Amino acid sequence: MLERIIKFFDKKQSQSDFSDRTVFDARQYGLTPKMISRNAHQVVETLQNAGFEAYVVGGSVRDLLLGLKPKDFDVATNAEPTEIKSLFRRSRIIGRRFQIVHVQFSRELIEVTTFRSNQDSDIKASKKNAPLRQQSKSGMLTRDNVFGSVTDDAERRDLTVNALYYDPSDNTIHDFTDGLKDINKRTIRMIGDPATRFREDPVRLLRVARFTAKLGFSIEPRTAKPMSKRARDLAHISPPRFFDETLKLFMSGNGASTYKLLCDHQLFDQLVPQVAHLIKDGSNNAAKLIEQAFINTDIRISSNKRVTPAFIYAALLWPAVEKLAAYYTDRGSSPTYALSKAAGEVIAKQISVTAIPRRFTMPMREIWDLQLQLPRRGGHRAKRLSENPRFRAAYDFILLREQAGEDLAGLGDWWTQYQEADEEQKLKMSELISNTGNRRRRSRRPRHKKDSKD
Ligand code: ATP
Ligand code: MG
Repeated sequence: MLERIIKFFDKKQSQSDFSDRTVFDARQYGLTPKMISRNAHQVVETLQNAGFEAYVVGGSVRDLLLGLKPKDFDVATNAEPTEIKSLFRRSRIIGRRFQIVHVQFSRELIEVTTFRSNQDSDIKASKKNAPLRQQSKSGMLTRDNVFGSVTDDAERRDLTVNALYYDPSDNTIHDFTDGLKDINKRTIRMIGDPATRFREDPVRLLRVARFTAKLGFSIEPRTAKPMSKRARDLAHISPPRFFDETLKLFMSGNGASTYKLLCDHQLFDQLVPQVAHLIKDGSNNAAKLIEQAFINTDIRISSNKRVTPAFIYAALLWPAVEKLAAYYTDRGSSPTYALSKAAGEVIAKQISVTAIPRRFTMPMREIWDLQLQLPRRGGHRAKRLSENPRFRAAYDFILLREQAGEDLAGLGDWWTQYQEADEEQKLKMSELISNTGNRRRRSRRPRHKKDSKD
């Protein structure tokens, strides 16, 4: 595919200049209308037949050009949301900050967006909806419903590689920002002035890291330069949106390389502030643990295994939880109580940055709690622990800690063997543990002399 692109650039054939754009024959890039989803094609056709301009745009065009499978298909048009809605029976307008229309097909959802503009002079182009665009003191766009032309729409997109417009009706690619050249050079380049674009929407910082890692591209120096300085703008992102973006970063299958980019550009400090300083101190294996968590997650994704944000966040925050729990045990709390108190406090701080939903914080706390319980596996406890619904994740977490260099006295191996053993062997294994005196210490009950000898 890339070879074909390079050849095409050499020959410069079949390209026409509309002054604002360069139009390429998509066939030269191996792109044909059959490669886009039939539904996306139909949406474009319906809009065009109604007299509107319409293109398939964004990630799907980028991915097809790179030989990757698009996640979904987005359509951009000069029809306004209500006009789009009137053309499709199963459609609805969603969003406030950024209105789009969802067109539902039986199994596929096509997102249709009206061309947006960044130019204030284009405010006339749209009708109702006041205020159309709002900006916070820091320069962040909080409302962005100013409609414009396709050229404006290309200018307001984030990266040049994400701003290619594909028209299946004549099989052409419309390029306004030299995106095809950047695909060819494997470069991530922000459209416009990078510092301003990052200030307008700090999520773009994360998007640069995400696409750089996903595509294996490099960041153009002019785009990279303001990134670490703008990193603190990430604090302006609303916690729910920030959480969603972190999932895209970490559950993409390129978590390890994304993590490295986040660190290189000082973005990670903003994402998990409580742990960032522990990584810098070099304390309690924090850097190794987090890096390893991403490596393991990537491996799981590539072998189609389930990954959960709870496990990732459990790993991300564990160094902070462990440190705070140690602080409380040093001051006389029981390990269980100290861990639970630390967990609560660390989570409370983190959700003011990335709003982790309760359906994930609960399992995170269980995984952490089981870190204290899995070593205490004598007698009947091993069987009971192995039946805990969170056992598997907690066991994986033990393995992760060991991989990151922690010495847990062979605990991971023991549990591996236990799971592989038959019932009789299991009994023997747990008896051996209880015989070596690894018994549960009962908290809450006042200790009597006999207990304290244990
Ligand atoms: P993915 O494969 O992850 O879906 P994508 O490029 O399609 O990648 P989306 O988040 O689906 O990304 O967004 C669709 C398009 O909208 C992008 O390609 C880009 O052109 C534009 N876009 C998305 N987010 C922003 C943003 N924060 N600022 C500017 N443009 C954006
Ligand atoms: Mg997309």
